[in-house]
Amino acid sequence: MSRVAVIGAGYVGLTTAACLADLGNDVIVVDINREKVAQLLRNHVPFYEPGLGELVERNTKAKRLTFTTSYQEAVPGAEFAIIAVSTPEGEGGEADLSFVEAAAGSIADSMDGPLVVVNKSTVPPLTGDMVSRVIGQRNAKHKADVVSNPEFLREGSAIQDFMHPDRVVIGGHDRGAAEKVAKLYEPLQAHILITPNIYTAEMVKYASNAFLAARISFINEIARICERVDADAKLVAEGMGLDKRIGPTYLDVGIGYGGSCFGKDVKALAALAERFDYHPELLNAVMDINRDQRMLVIDKLREGLDELQDKVVGLLGLAFKPNTDDLRDAPSMDIARVLLAAGTHVRAYDPAAMEGARVKLPAVEYTEDAYAVAAGADALVVVTEWNEFRHLDMARVKASMRRPVIVDGRNIYDPLVMRGHGFTYRGIGRD
Ligand code: NAD
Repeated sequence: MSRVAVIGAGYVGLTTAACLADLGNDVIVVDINREKVAQLLRNHVPFYEPGLGELVERNTKAKRLTFTTSYQEAVPGAEFAIIAVSTPEGEGGEADLSFVEAAAGSIADSMDGPLVVVNKSTVPPLTGDMVSRVIGQRNAKHKADVVSNPEFLREGSAIQDFMHPDRVVIGGHDRGAAEKVAKLYEPLQAHILITPNIYTAEMVKYASNAFLAARISFINEIARICERVDADAKLVAEGMGLDKRIGPTYLDVGIGYGGSCFGKDVKALAALAERFDYHPELLNAVMDINRDQRMLVIDKLREGLDELQDKVVGLLGLAFKPNTDDLRDAPSMDIARVLLAAGTHVRAYDPAAMEGARVKLPAVEYTEDAYAVAAGADALVVVTEWNEFRHLDMARVKASMRRPVIVDGRNIYDPLVMRGHGFTYRGIGRD
């Protein structure tokens, strides 16, 4: 059992903290957001993540998990300080490391003995050295070993991903410190890869996200070609994915990737490459294809409706993917903005993300369910493939719409079935 301070109570920090507490460690989470900490102290998880509320409650009750806004309460006596603060897009696309730098400074000011500082935030190579430097400059008394341990969990299945990872990657200049971190993960019986230099571990995360994003842009480019030659891109992806060398994941034809990670991470990796005088052509193409893919929905709506002005368009789903309320870099936001600018009346329903969306896009009309989105609408767009949209009563949907146009941005419906219901149906890559 170790005493662990987790810095940042977001998706990654809170999941890490609750899981490490569940494995028997004594965990304290520090976050500068007072409101968030106050909610957590009342056992309320401030965002949607399946199972996390129960895990937090169980471990809080067992007194293995607690929350604070004070580094002075969290860091002294801890063996590990795990940094899990945000690294948003910064100037010129590079990762904004100011939160990591601030966290490093606060750790330095409050540590009272030797500490292993674990960087779990997604950061470019050389960031670990910056963290070491900041701590060294602010606290000459105590030694901090900085280790990179990138996180690969996915929102929506965060606990499962943390507890059953495909791999745990750990890298540090000091092998002993990396091995201490490996011990924390021992109960998971996961494949642990310890890289002898910290930069390699930092790079694994960026390379993994860029590769997954590239798969999505690749299949979306194939989909564009499929549309021109009457091939069905969904089946093409299935046929490709059955090849063991390729595999089926991240080959979903649709309106592209979004979320808190892929967009900013591919951009940050490309910006890093440029800083070191390498022009990353493939990464740039991945980003360009993804940007254009979102607007494909608008083109298809224009084809189905002629004019967008004064039409009522309903969005099914707003979150960047199902089972989360996360709207960061969500295609829905871009699509809604373009529609609103074209004079369209935009309606939307999402099972989890409407509270956040109301703040970001107050001009959209938010409804209580998918049927209310459809009633009187000229077109529906499937933006997020929530399961509840897969089994709608399509006869009811069709009967309530002014015009039965559906743009299925996630290819969740069968084109033949939809046309059988009388819809003007447009999928992606398989018209
Ligand atoms: P988040 O925005 O949900 O949470 C970050 C938290 O850090 C916030 O609660 C914020 O208040 C807090 N914070 C900021 N500065 C702080 C400071 N100086 N001290 C203490 N707390 C501070 O972010 P997230 O989605 O959990 O992502 C965290 C990191 O993990 C990012 O680098 C991200 O790229 C990476 N990551 C995210 C995911 C994901 O699915 N969300 C997956 C893998 C990796």
